[in-house]
Amino acid sequence: MVAEGFTVDLNKPLVFQVGHLGETYEEWVHQPIVTKKGPRFFHSDFWEFLTLTVWWAVPVIWLPVSVWCISMSISRGLSLPEIVPLIALGIFIWTLIEYTLHRFLFHIKTKSYWGNTAHYLLHGCHHKHPMDHLRLVFPPAATAVLCFPFWNLVKLFTTPSVTPALFGGGMLGYVMYDITHYYLHHAHPTRAVTKNLKKYHLSHHFRIQDKGFGITSSLWDIVFGTLPTTKAPKTEQ
Ligand SMILES: [Zn+2]
Ligand SMILES: [Zn+2]
Ligand SMILES: [Zn+2]
Repeated sequence: MVAEGFTVDLNKPLVFQVGHLGETYEEWVHQPIVTKKGPRFFHSDFWEFLTLTVWWAVPVIWLPVSVWCISMSISRGLSLPEIVPLIALGIFIWTLIEYTLHRFLFHIKTKSYWGNTAHYLLHGCHHKHPMDHLRLVFPPAATAVLCFPFWNLVKLFTTPSVTPALFGGGMLGYVMYDITHYYLHHAHPTRAVTKNLKKYHLSHHFRIQDKGFGITSSLWDIVFGTLPTTKAPKTEQ
């Protein structure tokens, strides 16, 4: 049951605690703690290990898979000029998936024990400890599981030669997204474009958490009207 006034003990494993926050979870999870050292998730070293992902695992694992997919389209008869626009389309579609997942799934409102627990594992942990560098990119095991529904979805709308190239393009988009997300949290960009993207994403974390869902661009925030206001609400009259 929801304990009134339950407080989380940050020195103990968090995953099975956060559910007890009930309706106060939403507020708790959006009060960030900005230490580089992440919290303990589980008592078990085995499960704890599974929650840790180094950022470079994403390109090391998924770039070859993406290239392999694209080459499959070539072996199924597509030429390079046919493949390039499919890859571009895949990347473009990914940006919409990125926005949709982040806005509607990662920011779903929860208050039940298991709802809170699932949300914490999915995205809540990243909002609570945004600088935890080992809980930022998507764990490859989870990505692998998600590949199946996405592959079947692409398959539904495409011919057998087009499917792998489009899927590979989408995967390329995913890799770019996860690397960009890591970069925005942990690098110190000097160019205007990347500087602004960093500012944009940090505003999602520290200023207006229900705005600015795009990571690699603000395109879909513009389209769907979730662009954060330029001034903080408090300073507006
Ligand atoms: Zn978020
Ligand atoms: Zn959130
Ligand atoms: Zn972030």
